[in-house]
Amino acid sequence: MKSTVLRQSKSPTDSPLQYIKGIGPKRARALQEAGIRSVRDLLFYFPFDYLDRSRIVAIKDLRHYVDADKPTTVIGEVIRQEVRRSRRTNRMMFFLTVQDGTGALQCVWFEGVQWYKDAFEVGELLALSAYPDQDKFGRIQFIHPEFDRLKGAEEEDEPDWGKMFNTGSIIPKYRSTAELAHVGLDSRGFRRVLRNALRSHAHHVKETLAHDIISRNNLPALHHALQQIHFPSDHSQLALARRRMKFDELFFLQLMLALRKRQTSEDVTGIAFSKQSPSAKSLADALPFRLTAAQQRVLREIADDMRSPKPMNRLLQGDVGSGKTIVALFAMLMAVDNRYQVAFMAPTEILAEQHARTLKSFLQNLPVNVRLLIGGQRKKLREDVLEDIRSGRAHIAVGTHALLEETVEFARLGLVVIDEQHRFGVMQRAGLRQKGVRPDVLVMTATPIPRTLALTLYGDLDVSILNELPAHRKPIKTAIRMEHQKERVYQFVREEVRRGRQAYIVFPLIEESEKIDLKAATAEFERLQESVFPELRLGLLHGRMKTEEKDEIMRRFQSGDIQILVSTTVIEVGIDVPNATIMIIENAERFGLSQLHQLRGRVGRGADQSYCILIANYAWFDTQRRGKESGEVQKEKHDAKVRLETMVETTDGFTIAEVDLKLRGPGEFFGTRQSGMPQFRIANLVEDGELIAVARKEAFELVKHDPHLRQAVHEPVRTHFEEEYRHVWGLGEIG
Ligand code: ADP
Ligand code: MG
Repeated sequence: MKSTVLRQSKSPTDSPLQYIKGIGPKRARALQEAGIRSVRDLLFYFPFDYLDRSRIVAIKDLRHYVDADKPTTVIGEVIRQEVRRSRRTNRMMFFLTVQDGTGALQCVWFEGVQWYKDAFEVGELLALSAYPDQDKFGRIQFIHPEFDRLKGAEEEDEPDWGKMFNTGSIIPKYRSTAELAHVGLDSRGFRRVLRNALRSHAHHVKETLAHDIISRNNLPALHHALQQIHFPSDHSQLALARRRMKFDELFFLQLMLALRKRQTSEDVTGIAFSKQSPSAKSLADALPFRLTAAQQRVLREIADDMRSPKPMNRLLQGDVGSGKTIVALFAMLMAVDNRYQVAFMAPTEILAEQHARTLKSFLQNLPVNVRLLIGGQRKKLREDVLEDIRSGRAHIAVGTHALLEETVEFARLGLVVIDEQHRFGVMQRAGLRQKGVRPDVLVMTATPIPRTLALTLYGDLDVSILNELPAHRKPIKTAIRMEHQKERVYQFVREEVRRGRQAYIVFPLIEESEKIDLKAATAEFERLQESVFPELRLGLLHGRMKTEEKDEIMRRFQSGDIQILVSTTVIEVGIDVPNATIMIIENAERFGLSQLHQLRGRVGRGADQSYCILIANYAWFDTQRRGKESGEVQKEKHDAKVRLETMVETTDGFTIAEVDLKLRGPGEFFGTRQSGMPQFRIANLVEDGELIAVARKEAFELVKHDPHLRQAVHEPVRTHFEEEYRHVWGLGEIG
């Protein structure tokens, strides 16, 4: 959320970095490259971690930490270093010995010896972190520890970190890069310039919150929090400072959402659709099933929005299989009967194709023209579709995000339905309303979203929840099987298919080597067809196929001609073939949890018992052999195990989403950086749920009582918002 646009009002904290003692042109340039352009940016470059007394272990006690599940940190002075050649492997190794007054510790590096051998000085004070390791003589050592320089042998002007056992100092750690370290801005270098920057500039930092908000929430003043977040006097001060900084980020985000919501609710230039929708009525009469109570309630909520002249901005949340598409279809018919067009956007082309097919079959007896627009269509067809959209002959245009491209012109766009998969966050939606007069917008999420995320990403939308699955659905049975049990799994598939059911077999795609993956999937498909299921009809589906080929395969699977669909994850979202009751997921440990849930959601859509079998590689489950595996690999395996076990334990999408978010963190949860997720400096959507709620309440209250932020007490908020956030969010004038 960092601003790159020049701010209008100049304050001393906008000064160039060279105003800080210890920063010359070289360092200023390196900092600039790293995105730190002003004194203010530097002051808001927060430590990513701290070394604190409670986490530091005396060297003599290290042996008690050999089995710890977190790295252990010691602080010691360098007393000896040497390069030796291993007699066994004939490779160079670097040994560094430090001592802390309770004992000495040897650290070893096998890699990067050339660099490490010149990296340290005798007398230097280091903080070192690693999993303590016992060598064959029972001595404790650190292998490839992480280190942080605390004080150079020659320096005197810093506090005596060496005494921190007694003083309780908390030392900030800063992220650095090779370029920054090269000009002396490693973690220690940052500590020095930040000390200077705080001394000369902290008092110039303007308060950003109103007094009443600060006092109601027991927050420290901003300049105080700045001091304390860099150089805390104790743990409670640090906690308060971090809370203040997180609050700021969350508050201003919520303020933006509150202002945006206020703008749309004041806006009466949207379309007031009339209630009468003969097409919706004929569809309702022809449906082969009854809508669930939840579907009916949600439909009423949507219809109310559509009738009002305020533009609709509604989020429809519902677990896989809860029947979102049909709800959306009723909304679409209401728009069409009012002689407006609908844009229906899906996250993938395959899904757009399926939606078009589904819509056409539901609408076969109605005079509604559905057109599909996706890449890979022949030029002539594409021109034809574009012309239908332009002239208004197309009532419903189905496609991917490409529907919002400039080349697509709608005659009378009245409703936009986005069937998304977490890919269309708060940022992108801002640019959406340009297409029509002021179309109504309905966003549907493919996977339930944890509450904290929903409040952040969709906090300006009204929310409808489909919390009920259609009746007669049996819960899907889920099991984990190992590679060597695959024959039995195949046997089971064979029996089910003989009873008239269909199955999916899904392979992971790993982005780095898509070609190789495809080859593997193709080879596996051939193996399955030829040696495993020679008597059955198999089909292969992957993302690199031409549109017509994909279409053809899906059509044949839907009609039952293909009995087993071997596929990459292209079928992940939304595919709907109720007769398919078996989902086999190969290399299941490679998939994210929400992805597994989505894949599983492809079965269990009809009245028959469905199964999901997760095939895993045994090596991933063998947690006994922790051995020399890095912490990263261990975590990866642990997480994979949690994912698969969660799948077996629950089918509830909300539970699964919460676990997934905890495992992966918000960035990964949303797949890509371009997901429209705001980037936080310090706030954390997983940990700060409570604070998000508080910040949201404050922001919405403020806008309720002072919609244009005109009151004098809100001046700091208004100024800060104008300077730092407004242009980033693309919001119009506040008032
Ligand atoms: P999702 O919410 O995952 O997008 P879909 O809209 O694809 O779910 O619906 C899943 C399946 O359930 C579809 O085959 C759909 O036709 C069917 N369905 C929807 N509503 C009902 C209902 N009320 N009763 C029975 N089946 C329904
Ligand atoms: Mg769907």
